[in-house]
Amino acid sequence: MDPLLTLQNICYSYHTPDGETLALENISFTVDEGEFIAIVGPSGCGKSTLLNLICGLMKPQSGEIALHGEPVTHTRPEIGYMLQKDHLFEWRTVYRNILLGLEIQHKCTPENIARADALLETYGLASFKNSRPSQLSGGMRQRAALIRTLVLDPNLLLLDEPFSALDYQTRLSVCDDIGIIIKKEKKTAVLVTHDLSEAISTADRVIVLSKRPGKIRSIIPIKLDIEDRTPFRSRNAPNFKDYFNLIWKELNCHE
Ligand code: ADP
Ligand code: MG
Repeated sequence: MDPLLTLQNICYSYHTPDGETLALENISFTVDEGEFIAIVGPSGCGKSTLLNLICGLMKPQSGEIALHGEPVTHTRPEIGYMLQKDHLFEWRTVYRNILLGLEIQHKCTPENIARADALLETYGLASFKNSRPSQLSGGMRQRAALIRTLVLDPNLLLLDEPFSALDYQTRLSVCDDIGIIIKKEKKTAVLVTHDLSEAISTADRVIVLSKRPGKIRSIIPIKLDIEDRTPFRSRNAPNFKDYFNLIWKELNCHE
């Protein structure tokens, strides 16, 4: 099976009045359909830049990005993007927030509305349909933001540090929650995080980036000795700490 997403020799520089900043250098990897990829790397190494390139918001300076073998040259509806801030609008109810993407894309069809209702029901937000975002907990807000993205039925989900604004405990449970939802909905995901445990607990493969300019240090397949893997259970796998040590070393080697 061909990969869903292919990146080949991606380079990107920012140009400012002070000069040029090389942010990413020679990034190549593929993502298979249904795979969960986590990208880790120090702050400022180009992780958000990479997601912006994948979704077509920015164009690489050189190299190619393809989705289903077709070059990504503009933003595509089959790519969903979830950010650290949930960007829920307080002047809309939870339900109207969730329908926002459909409204913008003129896709408020009965099937899509039914999918929105079903997602709200399945993931425990149905009784909060008419609430305002401020009435939800941090974790529920992230879940609402994910549902808003899933309603558009994207093939590929990009998640940019979606849990980092949450306190530690909430973060663990929301990560578990969202990891389970993504697997259950059979979505392909690329999660950017600076949290190694989060990466190992959610991902099928972890891509480790060097500090800026971001280059790929290594791509590590995660095979945990555990049944019925969920992000939370993964943390108890006997070999979890081996991956942690391995990735820690990769991040901290400076040659
Ligand atoms: P990360 O998400 O890994 O923290 P970013 O992708 O946001 O990193 O940024 C990578 C590097 O590119 C940063 O070190 C920053 O200096 C530079 N950068 C990011 N955005 C801009 C911009 N709009 N203009 C100039 N430089 C930028
Ligand atoms: Mg970032």
